[in-house]
Amino acid sequence: MSIAESLQKIKNTIPANVTLIAVSKTKPVSDILEAYNAGQRAFGENKIQEMVQKYEDLPKDIEWHMIGHLQSNKVKYMAHFVHLIHGVDSFKTLKEINKQAIKHKRIINCLLQIKIAREETKFGLSALEAENFITSEELKSLKNIHILGFMGMASFTDDLNIIKNEFKTLKNIFNSLKKYKSFNFTPTKLSMGMSGDYQIAIEEGSNMVRVGSAIFGERNYN
Ligand SMILES: *Cc1c(COP(=O)(O)O)cnc(C)c1O
Repeated sequence: MSIAESLQKIKNTIPANVTLIAVSKTKPVSDILEAYNAGQRAFGENKIQEMVQKYEDLPKDIEWHMIGHLQSNKVKYMAHFVHLIHGVDSFKTLKEINKQAIKHKRIINCLLQIKIAREETKFGLSALEAENFITSEELKSLKNIHILGFMGMASFTDDLNIIKNEFKTLKNIFNSLKKYKSFNFTPTKLSMGMSGDYQIAIEEGSNMVRVGSAIFGERNYN
């Protein structure tokens, strides 16, 4: 199946309120253009340098989503164009995003990454840490960031029940933190679901799925 066909097949199965982010990490510009020419505008990358290079090489109406774990010293390279930063899990990073946003006279949209998987390697905040984060005085001082919701990754397992429960957990956290809505925290986005589990994620309330290999084919590396 071609990239355009794979993309169409996925679009046909997801509801209209769910944003499809085509995860193009490691894939060449020619693949991204194929998806672009089929109408796709939101793309996800997990390495800042790679995203910057692709931003420079590709049409400027693409929305670039940073889905990887962030190194705060590299935020400056994408601050002028990034559309949404999914993986924020520390004040250090958030402060750096705010600082760079001010420099570029922008408000930068972010999602807080919540740890729902069992694996030690997955980044993210616990529910309690997220609550402390959102209710802190420190957040109120960051006027150039806008937290739109949450992102999470399920465990790497074949057990669909585990995955389903982890997504349920994230949806519950989303619901319980909504009441803290403020000028820079207006939770509407729930980014969960990848190639192997986006259908389950949508059933559990996701409205933003990050799909890579099901569109572009397997990657040789990450
Ligand atoms: C790579 C990646 C994806 C996409 O993974 P696929 O299994 O290829 O769909 C989604 N989210 C994050 C955070 C990723 O790093």
